[in-house]
Amino acid sequence: VYNFSAGPAVMPVPVLESIQRDMLALPGVGASILEISHRSGTFVAIAEAAEANLRKLLSISDDYAVLFLQGGSRLQFSMIPMNLLGKGQSADYILTGSWGNDALKEAKKEGETSVAWDGKSTNYDRLPKNGDLKLNPQAAYIHYTSNETIQGVQFKSEPEVGEVPLVCDASSEFLYKPLDVSKYGLLYACAQKNAGPSGVTVVIIRKDLLKRSDPNMPGYLNYQIHADNGSMWNTPPTFGIYVLKLVTDWLLNDVGGLDAMYQRNQDKAKLLYDVLDESNGFYAGHAQREDRSLMNVTFRLPSDELTDQFVGEAKKQSLTDLKGHRSVGGIRASIYNAMPLAGVEKLRDFMVEFKEKNAK
Ligand code: PLP
Repeated sequence: VYNFSAGPAVMPVPVLESIQRDMLALPGVGASILEISHRSGTFVAIAEAAEANLRKLLSISDDYAVLFLQGGSRLQFSMIPMNLLGKGQSADYILTGSWGNDALKEAKKEGETSVAWDGKSTNYDRLPKNGDLKLNPQAAYIHYTSNETIQGVQFKSEPEVGEVPLVCDASSEFLYKPLDVSKYGLLYACAQKNAGPSGVTVVIIRKDLLKRSDPNMPGYLNYQIHADNGSMWNTPPTFGIYVLKLVTDWLLNDVGGLDAMYQRNQDKAKLLYDVLDESNGFYAGHAQREDRSLMNVTFRLPSDELTDQFVGEAKKQSLTDLKGHRSVGGIRASIYNAMPLAGVEKLRDFMVEFKEKNAK
């Protein structure tokens, strides 16, 4: 089955094979990853390798801490303002879709916020252009969502925000291409799209920002505590970190790094967008052409009946999880890093055939 789910999503086959091999007993250990202490030398080496792989893939400098946390990206919606938004300060939010709005909703519970840009008037089909942002130079941080999973709009580069720390929800694009981490104050991503299973969330935070965490806040929510304890203040999500290590091994050794991954992702997305562009409007893309996502391809068919028929017939051909999110409708094909080219080619062929049969 080729599963186009928005997450949890497809995993690289070599990673699944390694998990299967290790599941009864890790080589040389005689126990599975589920059965060993997070303080054991074996697990500490796995966690260190996962971090080292991320540092290598993204060229993360020592100015940044890399944290492996639980609670998903949604907990970050709260932890970010709890840690970074001081009394009397305000934080800016750029709203390009559903997840940015959800992040703002949580931040409002913690302090003052301001909306720097909102794409609501066009149902989040496009991104702000340079000069569109209403920025507060005194803001505690500015938050944006680099890829909006539901709408399928994706920033090609970071918004220009001056000196204010840039905070990015990269959940649904993390590791899809190289990134200049030095442009960010904090970047976070739940793993269950491009980096592993649900249960582990990666937070990359500039170390000077750790000073903002109030020592009196609940311990688990405090970035400084996690950084001081190497993400082992409590029992970390050991299985997720182990899979993250395997996924980053795959990116480094099998794929050949993030430049190669980016090329693959561009090639895959082009196959589907070409069908949209050549369909005379039968497949109408949700996102404006220049802002569309390489990860989540969103489009509508001429009617709800045809949409249901599309989803049903695709499923019969083992192309699953294509129904769009209810707020956008239509179809969403999530083609994250691990979706093989063959899966996208099969979907492309299905789309061409479906249009030939059903276009008036
Ligand atoms: N942010 C984005 C961009 C997402 O796509 C998702 C999940 O789909 C989330 C946040 C929420 O992540 P979690 O379910 O891990 O809290």
